[in-house]
Amino acid sequence: MPTEQIISPLSKKSVVLAECLDCGQQTPYSPNLIACPSCNGQWLEARYDFQAIGPRLPGLLARREFNLWRYRELLPVTEMNPSLCMGEGGTPLISATNLGMMLGCPNIFIKDERQGPTSSFKDRQAAVNIAALKEAGITEAVLASTGNVAIAYSAYAARAGIKLWAFLTSLVPAEKMREVAIYGTQVVKVTASYDQAKKLAAEFAHQRGLYLERGSRSIPSVEGMKTIGYEIVEQLTTLLKPDQELNATPWIAPDWYFQSVSGGLGPLGVLKGFYELRQMGLIERIPAIGCVQVEGCSPMVQAWKQGKDVADPVISPRTHIATLSTGDPGRTYTLLRQRMGMGGGGTFESVSDEDTFRTMHVLAKMEGISVEPAAAVSFAGLIKMARAGMINPTDVIVMNCTGHTMPIEHTILGEGWSRNVALPTQTQAGQARQETPEEGLLAALSRVTDDRYANVLVVDDTEEARRLIRRILQSQGNYAISEAINGHQAIEMAKSGKPDLIILDLMMPDLDGFAVLDALKADADTAPIPVIVVTAKDLTQEEKSRLTGRIHSLMQKGEFMNDEFLEEVRGLFK
Ligand SMILES: [Zn+2]
Repeated sequence: MPTEQIISPLSKKSVVLAECLDCGQQTPYSPNLIACPSCNGQWLEARYDFQAIGPRLPGLLARREFNLWRYRELLPVTEMNPSLCMGEGGTPLISATNLGMMLGCPNIFIKDERQGPTSSFKDRQAAVNIAALKEAGITEAVLASTGNVAIAYSAYAARAGIKLWAFLTSLVPAEKMREVAIYGTQVVKVTASYDQAKKLAAEFAHQRGLYLERGSRSIPSVEGMKTIGYEIVEQLTTLLKPDQELNATPWIAPDWYFQSVSGGLGPLGVLKGFYELRQMGLIERIPAIGCVQVEGCSPMVQAWKQGKDVADPVISPRTHIATLSTGDPGRTYTLLRQRMGMGGGGTFESVSDEDTFRTMHVLAKMEGISVEPAAAVSFAGLIKMARAGMINPTDVIVMNCTGHTMPIEHTILGEGWSRNVALPTQTQAGQARQETPEEGLLAALSRVTDDRYANVLVVDDTEEARRLIRRILQSQGNYAISEAINGHQAIEMAKSGKPDLIILDLMMPDLDGFAVLDALKADADTAPIPVIVVTAKDLTQEEKSRLTGRIHSLMQKGEFMNDEFLEEVRGLFK
């Protein structure tokens, strides 16, 4: 917007300072600055003139496009370079209504980072880094990656004409490696752990005098990530307080921010964003951070649970989710732990590969969002913590949802995911000329519907409850589900449809669940059908005795997502 250049003296940039985390020395930032000139410390962080920028920021943002460059006064790049931009940042914040209902937490939002230029939140890191390198005249760079960083960097490096060397461990899926290569990046496949690949990349860069991407120690990487935090509070404010003008503050910060964690750069950057927003008086509190790792590579979780300030490296990660296999988080963990302690708190939690794969199904079937396993890890962590009562039902929760939709591997989908139709070939059809071709087609189609799905009748007078049970069942297996909206209809449908299972609400107007049960048990046709009763209220002794021996099990509403409920259902159909 040309007028803005005139209005805002900030566009012509205040100096970005790099502050040493060890001695506090401040030095003007440049990508070539990799250590503190005073103490040689390698951990530097960007500082800005928050007093000058803070009061003006809401007004500036109101006039800008929704991408990460709207925060340019707070990024380590002097001038935006439009020729490099691909619409990075500015991803939607989506309400996870069904997941929220399932967990009893209605305020879950998904920050859909899949919608970045290369479909992962690493686009932010790459966009800011490559812009900073281009500005400094750097033409060649080196990185090590478990996949997505290399893909994002490769795309931006290609646009900028920067030669990139990507050291990838042999565990990186071949599809990702090929995607890195198509951008013209030189792929170096390292048959070793990710930590070893990182060391090799560092040695290579050192020998050749090339720029090295250093994760949490690279200022543009942290600064790129922090824009997620900025966007979240702007979007939450718009969604939750639609009447508030955006340039009115304070903005709304979430209670929780969840992310899958490998090296920890993501949450470290996002947390820095929240701290800056508070420093500028734009938000009032720092969110709690949920850092979720896979059990097979969870050095941070282990250190956190033992109250340690330094994480012991995991030497041999044991997980199918190679994207999250940083065995040695180094100082990033220590910084995260300290900053979580100073702010809104949070926790480190781990989940199994199996829970993660299951969560991928839940997320896809309930929210229409298909993610790669690495991204599903944070959602599996949320589900685990919600079940353990660690999340307050009124909490506003934002989930970082990133990563490619990978080719879905066999281990994730399991058996029986497709139904196959084989039509007779021309020759076969010719040999069986008496048979009409339609018969061949019909016979093939009838085989498609031959597999019998377990037939479940859901009886509940509230539509929301029926929908929730339907979604939960559908997300967990193949069920043919029918619904009855009152007791009379339930009895009728049980007689005519002969379901394999009835899920019955007790509290219904007119004919309640007890009366329905009496009618079902009095009829020889419907008496054998197993019944799972769900109820919202605590039952009296007398009520319980009316159910004893007549139902398969009794569940409290709100317990739907318990493994117990699903085990009960699955157990009935073994
Ligand atoms: Zn220093």
